[in-house]
Amino acid sequence: MSERKVRVRFAPSPTGPLHIGGVRTALYNYLFAKKNGGDFILRIEDTDQNRFVPGAEEYVIESIKWCGIEPNEGIGFGDGAFAPYRQSERKAMYRQYADQLVKEGHAYYAFDTSEELEEAVMKMKNAGETFSYNAITRQKMKNSLVLSEEEIKKKLEAGERYVIRIKIPENEEVRLHDIIRGWVVVQSSQMDDKVLFKSDGMPTYHLANVVDDYLMKISHVIRGEEWLPSAPLHVLLYEYLGWKEVMPEFAHLPLLLRPDGNGKLSKRDGDRLGFPVFPLSAEMPDAKTGKPEKISGYREAGYFPDAFINMLALLGWNPGTEQEIFTMNELVNAFSFEHIHKSGARFNPEKAKWFNQQYLHKKNAEELADIFTPILNEHLKSNSLKKKNRKFIETVCSLVKEKATFVSDFWNLSSYIFITPTEYDNEVIKKRWNDKSKVFFESLIENLKKISGLQTANIDQTIKQTCEQVGIKSGEVMQLTRVLISGKGSGVDLLGMMELLGRDEVCNRLAKGVTVISNSFSKINN
Ligand code: GLU
Repeated sequence: MSERKVRVRFAPSPTGPLHIGGVRTALYNYLFAKKNGGDFILRIEDTDQNRFVPGAEEYVIESIKWCGIEPNEGIGFGDGAFAPYRQSERKAMYRQYADQLVKEGHAYYAFDTSEELEEAVMKMKNAGETFSYNAITRQKMKNSLVLSEEEIKKKLEAGERYVIRIKIPENEEVRLHDIIRGWVVVQSSQMDDKVLFKSDGMPTYHLANVVDDYLMKISHVIRGEEWLPSAPLHVLLYEYLGWKEVMPEFAHLPLLLRPDGNGKLSKRDGDRLGFPVFPLSAEMPDAKTGKPEKISGYREAGYFPDAFINMLALLGWNPGTEQEIFTMNELVNAFSFEHIHKSGARFNPEKAKWFNQQYLHKKNAEELADIFTPILNEHLKSNSLKKKNRKFIETVCSLVKEKATFVSDFWNLSSYIFITPTEYDNEVIKKRWNDKSKVFFESLIENLKKISGLQTANIDQTIKQTCEQVGIKSGEVMQLTRVLISGKGSGVDLLGMMELLGRDEVCNRLAKGVTVISNSFSKINN
């Protein structure tokens, strides 16, 4: 590896919301930059004005902020020495490079109208072939390689529209080294004369991308595998522009695949398969149809950004050990190209949930209460219940977190703590309620009333004592106690819940439960 400073860039085109594959590309760029004390740049590649989607750039910025992988240079993150970072604002810089290529015989003007191109496509199609503007077909088209000097001059003076195309050599081997894939060799006869500069005065992605990587002193191009077919063209551009010595190293990342491994994970798969494929929820016009589309995101689905990032990091890379849970710092330290996979990485929605669960279990009650309180308050309001104090909410969080995957699960897992039950799990009652039950609970209520502050230890002791007193095994009453208190046969830690509810509420719930159940029980038995 060369001695140059590591400078990497994430270069999305604002043609729609950023897909999780794009977030992973940004993440790997970030990790590589941090690991090597380098710079991480955000560049917006908006040369295709037809596919520009309003809001897409803001979406990228908000997403990478939420993920905590902030660039240290670029749009939305402060200008470095290489501003501007939006290609539309760099428009004036590109033309000279296209001109240089024309002058040196590596590019040419092409005056073909869209009708003429269409005709060429149809002709080939009728002959059972596919048209590509290349070393052979360009001989028959209307371009500066074929037309006389005079004709060219006339056209230019008349202001005829033209594009600038690269002149791909006829029969050469183009070799490029990819850090992940090794040597990639392509025959130039397989390549076409791509447009470098459009008639609207804008460069295409290929030219702008290479020029900017050069001007911004990019050392490594880390991007998705879908760009690998473009890389030989980029290599030629570096060569023709005289920049071969400073050409960045390439690393093309494996695709993210659908859970069944069949094909690339696309934006439609999320809704179809029921998991988000975008970091944030949004509504944005579709690049093609312009119709507004709603997309759902990980943030809104209740994922923690660190869990989301941890999950993404392991989609296409492994640390070489069994470790799965990583802080961002640990990821930075462990990251290397060496362990990036060549083949596609299957997305696993269940594993994504698993990561969130692991992170949720590690969060303390205060952090969880911060997130849960607004959700809880909504529910309390709609049930006409009073707000709870902070301590109470934190305890609920500690009680339910082991059973939850998302903070949004907390209400369903704990609503019975806030709402006194009116119905009781019938299965448990049928199985456990007997003649001694009523006596047991009446005695338990009496005994609990004697305690001034309920604590798990004294509740436990009181239950055991009452069992002895009534001559019943604790195994026979524990689940019933839970049903009387919560209405449910299973749930959070029983003694912890009783301590939280406090003596009066516990005794009230037990008394109410006994009345309701013994009434209905005697009905059933009569
Ligand atoms: N603008 C390209 C994209 O939308 C960037 C490809 C690259 O990183 O070179 O992904």
